[in-house]
Amino acid sequence: MQLVDAHAHLSDSSFEADLDSVVLKARENGLAAIVDCGLGKDGGLRSLRISERFRGYVYSTIGIDYGAPFSFSHEEVMRLILDNKSRIIGVGEVGLDYYTVRSREDRDRLIRVFEDFIELAKKLDVPIIVHSRSAGREAIDVLVKNNAKRVLMHAFDGKASYAMKGVEAGFFFSIPPSIVRSPQKQKLAARLPLENILLESDSPVLGVDPFKRNEPANIVFSLREIARVKKVDPDTVAEETTRNALKLFGLRI
Ligand SMILES: [Zn+2]
Repeated sequence: MQLVDAHAHLSDSSFEADLDSVVLKARENGLAAIVDCGLGKDGGLRSLRISERFRGYVYSTIGIDYGAPFSFSHEEVMRLILDNKSRIIGVGEVGLDYYTVRSREDRDRLIRVFEDFIELAKKLDVPIIVHSRSAGREAIDVLVKNNAKRVLMHAFDGKASYAMKGVEAGFFFSIPPSIVRSPQKQKLAARLPLENILLESDSPVLGVDPFKRNEPANIVFSLREIARVKKVDPDTVAEETTRNALKLFGLRI
């Protein structure tokens, strides 16, 4: 079995002490590749160092931390992406967070930044990894309006019916291990065609146990739960999600 973790934060400080054993455990659990996501300039630089160290196994994308989206210089993050365009395989995570950002004015500002990143991903011809929190519908609308094609909606928290608008536009959706405790994600996975699903860990968060550090090896829990809700063989889910990840990111393993 060869699996791909389409979205993790190995560049998070919680992995600093034992990164080697976390990567080893991922290999032992059948993971063939991990797509890391560095947040902000410092996180982005850390991610680039990690993908260099685990070359051909860990790949980098660079985006923004939506816990505090305005504490980042977006221009600086875009510059870092452009300066390292041959070393990244995607732009993001970027998107909309209406849980953290409440005023209409600030939400409009988020949309403008999101649109700039969509343009950048199109220009570089790489996928855009989309963060959407309490804004799934709006995020899909902005992507469709801006004609984004290579899209990964990560940990989508919106309605399954609205996700289908993304499916129509050819978007992919990655499902984290927290699906085992989330009726919303179970409904989403049941509804999405397997051709549009990827596995992700979103390590260190969105694990099976919300109080324990999550890690890439845990995407096997996403795999089993997706197989259960879709009533398909786990091997089929493994094969399809890996094929989808390689297709989206243009990777060969
Ligand atoms: Zn994330």
